[in-house]
Amino acid sequence: MKRTLPLMCLLVFLLIPQTASAAAFNRLTAQMDAFAGRALDSYHYDYARGCTGHVQRGTLALQSWLGHHVPGVSWGTYNCRRIRSGSILSLHAEGRAVDWHLDVRKPADRAAANRLVRAFLAPDAAGRPTAMARRMGIQEIIWNCRVWSTREPAAGMRPYSVCGRGVSRTLEHKDHLHIGLNWRGARKRTSFWRLAAPAKYHRTLATLLGGQGSNSMQMVGAAGFEPATSRV
Ligand SMILES: [Zn+2]
Repeated sequence: MKRTLPLMCLLVFLLIPQTASAAAFNRLTAQMDAFAGRALDSYHYDYARGCTGHVQRGTLALQSWLGHHVPGVSWGTYNCRRIRSGSILSLHAEGRAVDWHLDVRKPADRAAANRLVRAFLAPDAAGRPTAMARRMGIQEIIWNCRVWSTREPAAGMRPYSVCGRGVSRTLEHKDHLHIGLNWRGARKRTSFWRLAAPAKYHRTLATLLGGQGSNSMQMVGAAGFEPATSRV
């Protein structure tokens, strides 16, 4: 027994985080019941057409929500530019995307980002996939050489074609998540923003995602980046 005790302790130590994580996601799924009976927003993808000159209010709401619920800092929202890897306009040109700094090389950051992505794409109690993303009006997520998009919603986080030799970590989205909104989300017209979720839901989610449950967002300027202008 003496010999097996350390091993058992080690096993318990190793199992606790996974068990807690599974329980956390069960609670998260249960919390989505707050929206039960409410129509689930349909998948939608809106390409950027031109520079709007300002960030959208839904984007600011998402940025604020991230600040309340997950570790990390904003790297910006609005930037009148084309996507780095092509000629089409970035969603940042219409102020419809948030770049959220978390670094895949840091285990805590990587875990937080992965939890966040899983939360966005988790099914609700009725088994409807990507419920939170749909309710928030999220149309694309890019993180760590993976992309999810409402253009292929059932594909999950699929390989991001931009990644490869000579591509910067920023382009590979290994130092930040890119979270883009469709126009309904950007205008705060999707269900997540229209229906005030119970405070309990937000507190539980904050715990699940590792945030503080209070405004932990550092202003982008404090981190040495230009406020309001996305650098990526
Ligand atoms: Zn971005």
